[in-house]
This record gives sequence, C-alpha cells and structure tokens, in this order.
Amino acid sequence: MARNTRPIARLTGRGLRRLRNGHPWIYRSDIQVNPEAESGALVAVAGPKGRAVGVATWSTTSLIAIRRLPIRLDEEVEAGWWRLVEAAVARRPADRVAGRLIYGDADGLPGVIVDRYGDALSVQSLTAAAAQREPELARWLCERFSPSIVVARNDPRVRVLEGLPQGRQVLARAGAPVEAPLLSPEDEAHAPVEVPIGDVVMGFDLLSGQKTGAFLDQVENWQRAGAIARERGFTEALDCFCYEGGFSLQLARAGCSVESVDASGGAIARVKANAERNGLSDRINAVEANAFEHLRALEASGRKFDLVVLDPPAFAKRRDAVESGLRAYKEINLRGFKLLKPGGVLITCSCSALATRSKFAEVISKAAADAGVWARWIEGRGPGADHPALITAPETDYLKVMILEV
Ligand code: SAH
Repeated sequence: MARNTRPIARLTGRGLRRLRNGHPWIYRSDIQVNPEAESGALVAVAGPKGRAVGVATWSTTSLIAIRRLPIRLDEEVEAGWWRLVEAAVARRPADRVAGRLIYGDADGLPGVIVDRYGDALSVQSLTAAAAQREPELARWLCERFSPSIVVARNDPRVRVLEGLPQGRQVLARAGAPVEAPLLSPEDEAHAPVEVPIGDVVMGFDLLSGQKTGAFLDQVENWQRAGAIARERGFTEALDCFCYEGGFSLQLARAGCSVESVDASGGAIARVKANAERNGLSDRINAVEANAFEHLRALEASGRKFDLVVLDPPAFAKRRDAVESGLRAYKEINLRGFKLLKPGGVLITCSCSALATRSKFAEVISKAAADAGVWARWIEGRGPGADHPALITAPETDYLKVMILEV
C-alpha cells in the first residue's frame, strides 16, 4: 500500500490486464470503483480483488481517468512526483540549450511538458494533476535554472477534457514567480528569445509560436539536414511546410539556396526574420503558398532540387481521417520524389501518431514507385532523444522522419 493512506481506484479485470501490459492510461470504463478523490489527486490503483498494484493520477472529467506513474507503492507519492521531475531533468544533457526537459508520460509525469529555449522556459500542464502542481513546478524551475522567463502555454484543447481553462500566462520573470492574469489564446503577447542551433541563431516566441514556441522535436533533424547537404555539396534545396525555417536555415548555412514554402504569412515573416538574423537573406527565398499547389507548379516548371524537405502538419489526426491523411502524404511525397535531381535526397516527415511507422513507410514506397524512382532508404529517424516515446504506449511514438536518396 502506498505509505500515507491514499484513495484507491479499483480496476476491472480488463483494466488490470491493460495496466499489466504496461500501458499507463486506463479508461473510465475499466474502473470498477472510483477513488474518493478530487481531480488531479495521486491515488493508489488496485486490481478487482483490491490488491494495490501502482500509483496514478486521477481525473474526474477525462475519459482517460487514470494515468499510471512509475512511483513505488512504498514511496510517499508527492515526494515521488518531485523525484520524477528531478530525474527527467537529470536525464537531459545539461548543455543543451534548445530542447525538452520533461516529456509527459515518457518521463512518468502525465501531462507535464517543459521546454528550454536558452535561458527561457515554456511549460504545458495538460492534465489536472499537472495543472495543480504547476505553481510548484514554476518555483522548482526558478531555483534550478534561474530562467529569464517561464511561460505557461496552456492553450491546447486537451485541457478542456480535463476541465481546465485554456490560456497563456507568464509564470515567472528574472528567476522569480509572478502573479499574472491568464492571457486569452487570442492575445498577441510576445516573449521573444534568440537561441543558437548549430551554427545559426534562431528567434523563437514562447507566447505566440506554435506548441511551446517551436517544433523542438525537429532540432536534431534540422541539423542532420544541414550535415547531409554539406557532405554532399548540395546547392539547391526546397523546404516545404517550413514554419519558421528550422530546416531552411541549416540548409542555407550549409551552402544551399533554399526555397522555403508555408501557407501561413506569419510563418513566412518568421523565416525572413531568421534569414536576416543570420545574414542568409540572399540564400533563402520564402514563399507564402499552399504546398500542394506549389509542388505542382514546381513540377510543371521543370525545376529540380538536390534536397527536398516535407514536414507537413498532422494529416491523419483522427481515426476517420487516416485514409484521407495517407492520400495527402502520398501526393506530396510523389511530387517531392519527382522534384529531385539524380543523387538527390528526400527528407520526409509525418507527425501523425495514427499514420504508424509501417503505414507511413508503405505510403512512401507507393510514392516512390509511382514517381518511377529507385529510392534508397538511408536513414530512419524520429524526434531527438529528449522527446522519448514510451514503448508500452504506441501513441506516444508520433514523429517519423525518413531520409531517402534517389
Ligand atoms: N518544418 C517546421 C514545422 C512545420 S509545422 C519545423 O521544423 O519547425 C507545419 C507547417 O505547415 C505550419 O507552419 C503550417 O503553417 C504549414 N502548413 C499547413 N498546411 C499547409 C499547406 N497546405 N501548405 C503549406 N503550408 C502549410
């Protein structure tokens, strides 16, 4: 039994089997007896016969009622939570300036996200348990990192499922927690930072950028793209769905002239600012366009590239959109292959968890066959090691990056 007496959630046989198979999430339908606890509490979890098997967070609103934590039954559970926070941060290289410090279930802290952008930190609390401990987390982060600013990016819609308000907030400034009102999601508040990524400097905005400010899961892939271009002496690259230009900047620094394409005017403005920041404006042509149309137009023009990056938003977000999503991946990859010079390289990504590694590989295979190219798969990648997936929870393995050579 967990030391200090805890409320107990009693599972059904099916719930217990799921838990034994290692999945940390238990649905409400697999709970026999609810714990007497508020949403966000840490509770003990027991099998159908009442024998305690683990510790979990409890939500009274989400369909995922229980999320298991790697806390021992003989451990004081709140102390266990902070032990997990320490361990997550200790696992990351101390000198990494742009990366994830805490990543939810993979670190045993469901719903807790902390990203580092130089001396600035961005936090997301996506479960009731995470939200309750957010002020304490902000204090802990202030002591540990003396950050210039800590923001909360609590705008994701999943918060609603946990009965939590959506908003953006400044939690701390100059290493000390602040009291601040919630900013609405539409608020045009800014928290700009500049962070070196390899041998470029990127500007991010923790309050107005996507996710916690940027797609930090791609940082290592941006740099890998630059290294490939450099090794092979590439001179012409295309970066589709470029957002603020993570891939474009590394490719330009490696000596390529880059066409950077995004449908969002805001993204194009960010790419241009980043190009300027690095003296790379003459090598980066940022185009505001729908990538599907732009790829078609490029194909019609007969232009070819040494390297093409395709990093679209999740096309298969829901179960009923998997088929149409896979068709969209197929279309852009078919065109991507056709735009390559002989010896060219395609870096193709999918961040849809529902488009699994094998399904995505099948789509790329069909695209290569239809494009009539002999495509060699030279590297399979994912997010950086700071964004681990939990092997027993397949839906946490979302980002696929395939590198192919024709
Ligand atoms: N490659 C980026 C992340 C891309 S996120 C990085 O590594 O940081 C996906 C991007 O696709 C967003 O910037 C979004 O504005 C853009 N986008 C979405 N639909 C698009 C479309 N049809 N055509 C072009 N860009 C699109």
